[in-house]
Amino acid sequence: MTRKLRIAIGGFMHESHSFAPMPASWEDFVLPGGLPALQRPATLIEGLRNSSMPGGGAIAEAEKHGVELVPLTWCFANPAGPVTAQAFERISALILHDLTEALLAGPLDGIYIDLHGAMLADGYPDAEGELLRRVRAVAGNDVTVASPLDPHANMTAAMVERADILVPYRTYPHVDMRWAGERTMDLLLKRIARGALDYWMPLPAQCTLIPPMTDVYAERARIAEARGVTELAFCFGFPYADFPDCGAAVAAYGPDKAEAEAAVADLLAYLNLREADFRLDVLPAAEGVAQAMALSAKTAGPIVLADTQDNPGGGGHGDTTGLLAELIRQDAQGTSLGMINDAESAAACHAAGEGATVRLTLGGKSDGAPLDVTAKVLRLTDGHFVCTGPMAAGNPADLGPTALIGIGGVRVIVVSRKMQALDQEMFRHVGIEPAEEKIVVVKSSVHFRADFQPIASKVLVVTAPGPVVADPATLTFHNLRPGLRLRPKSNH
Ligand SMILES: [Zn+2]
Repeated sequence: MTRKLRIAIGGFMHESHSFAPMPASWEDFVLPGGLPALQRPATLIEGLRNSSMPGGGAIAEAEKHGVELVPLTWCFANPAGPVTAQAFERISALILHDLTEALLAGPLDGIYIDLHGAMLADGYPDAEGELLRRVRAVAGNDVTVASPLDPHANMTAAMVERADILVPYRTYPHVDMRWAGERTMDLLLKRIARGALDYWMPLPAQCTLIPPMTDVYAERARIAEARGVTELAFCFGFPYADFPDCGAAVAAYGPDKAEAEAAVADLLAYLNLREADFRLDVLPAAEGVAQAMALSAKTAGPIVLADTQDNPGGGGHGDTTGLLAELIRQDAQGTSLGMINDAESAAACHAAGEGATVRLTLGGKSDGAPLDVTAKVLRLTDGHFVCTGPMAAGNPADLGPTALIGIGGVRVIVVSRKMQALDQEMFRHVGIEPAEEKIVVVKSSVHFRADFQPIASKVLVVTAPGPVVADPATLTFHNLRPGLRLRPKSNH
């Protein structure tokens, strides 16, 4: 009689921005805004089961096949600066401790670890490569190690070598995270070539709901089928990490090494052919607000303005005020903005009470450019809600003391803990129905599109202050590999 398969499951997810204002600390992993808290072995299965995280999909797939899951430690922190040495060492130590206990209790058939793939830690620029090295050192080379990856992963040769299976999500907005977890677990229950691309794709152009990415993913599927590879892994990379492996990369897993290498070459050739189509398409804040006001006067659904450079999902602090100042200056009536991350202002609103008029030094804590405003406190909440959109359904949000304030015709949600504006529920929980607004402003680059594009009559991506620059070529990098083009070439 064969024994049940025994698979360890854990995770350590972070997307790190070399130039973001705040580092990712231990506390940020313990309780991230908008996603499951840090899970130890006793709580991991129930903590992730109903979430949109890849681990939720992996648990469902493993249980379907009667696998014995051995939980480790799992955690996620919202994108920010590099992970502090303290957080990296504590979390790595917890995972390796739990893994050691699991191995002492009996042999493991596999190790599943939720990774993002673009984590920088103090002292370890390829933090996932380092974590996988430690996992291998503890578990040995015979056990299969598998991880889903966010396609913003800067997929390094060390990661590809040390993991047996890597499965990137196929979408941006990431609405298929659970699917990637299921597929990773599926491949774990039943091997490599890698190539890197010579140019960067700006974040707003990486969206898989619009060309050229819709074409790239169709081509990816066609090549995988034609070459007979099991997994053709494409990561478009996170272009804010200052280390040599930053960028887009392709890896293939299949029964035949030559075919796997050919599949990588085919997809890289296609991406080179489409380089010019990955150009930037963004507007300065003043022009974006003016266009939104003009368009909203003659359409039914809201105009959605994406404040891409202060995206809390890309390392922004969610508190810059440049776009808000422009909305007030142009008197954009019927506008709602989600969200300004400013615990001090939220506390001041709670102290004053609903209906009060308050003077606030709003936002700007991360860049020293707050906005002095006189605002009316319209609604106070504890910042608790459950997400309902395609990317985050089922995830609990705990944004701390929250206030909806009115500044002229502009309503602003002020929260105490940052979260990317990717789910309509963050508006609804303060009484705003986004579809009924004239203009909806979201601090997000692309993820908002999953839940907001369907109600938008038009989406405009605008540039205002923040570290998630639409054009990474404007940053001063020191450690990139020679020859990497920081902007796609305009033509061939
Ligand atoms: Zn991502």
